[in-house]
Amino acid sequence: MDYNIGDIVKLKKIHPCGSKTWEITRIGVDFKLKCQGCNHIIVVPREKALKMIVSKVEKDVK
Ligand SMILES: [Zn+2]
Repeated sequence: MDYNIGDIVKLKKIHPCGSKTWEITRIGVDFKLKCQGCNHIIVVPREKALKMIVSKVEKDVK
């Protein structure tokens, strides 16, 4: 699957704040993801990020 900056994705693990959706804010060797619930930012290696992501969330459907 292709990902772009600004995409909203669902992760396998629920963040402690209760949010399952994250916004991709950087793509490269590492992916930078921003939690949609609390704005917490995590940086994870690309390989790991691709395994963590369950699905892409359509932007129109919130
Ligand atoms: Zn959060």
